[in-house]
Amino acid sequence: MRLVLLGPPGAGKGTQAARLAAELDVPAISTGDIFRANVTEGTELGRTAKQYMDEGEYVPDEVTNAMVRDRLRADDARDGFLLDGYPRTPAQVEELDLMLGEAGVDAVVQLTVDTEEVVARLAQRATEQQRSDDGEAVQRHRLEVYEEQTAPLVDVYDRRGLLRPVDGMGAVPAVTARILAALDRG
Ligand code: AMP
Repeated sequence: MRLVLLGPPGAGKGTQAARLAAELDVPAISTGDIFRANVTEGTELGRTAKQYMDEGEYVPDEVTNAMVRDRLRADDARDGFLLDGYPRTPAQVEELDLMLGEAGVDAVVQLTVDTEEVVARLAQRATEQQRSDDGEAVQRHRLEVYEEQTAPLVDVYDRRGLLRPVDGMGAVPAVTARILAALDRG
């Protein structure tokens, strides 16, 4: 199964991606996690990405696309994968189309949450994980960037008949169950 998880920061993508990956036996590929690992390791990619991440901006498409292209070539992604946090711009959608060829993705899960809940979740995560991009101003900016650059992808995938909107509110296992049901895996 080749899946994309779409949703604003704080929607629970990372949490659900890990659970779904285990359930569906595919690797969860999180561009945010790969960038953070590179920042920790002090690689050149990490140094580039950090400048954007700390401002709540997207890392440039060329950088992100090259990284995903490389990751999708790995053996474990041959029979399926779950992309968490990619694509995030129309240019990334185009690039992913090229990477996957005719097969494309099987479904795009859109996690929906109300804005107040997202803000509360982000505040909680800031306390728990101390991510350098989880300060309040940066969080607000990340939500704006999502609305501007990523929200339009909902329509793109809806027009292709691939969109599976799922209510992301409530308990974590309940949301996982809803996603699996939306994918006919429930
Ligand atoms: P995330 O963990 O998915 O919230 O991503 C954290 C940060 O990594 C984002 O705010 C961006 O700066 C960067 N990032 C992650 N995925 C992408 C992407 N697909 N395109 C551009 N930047 C990304």
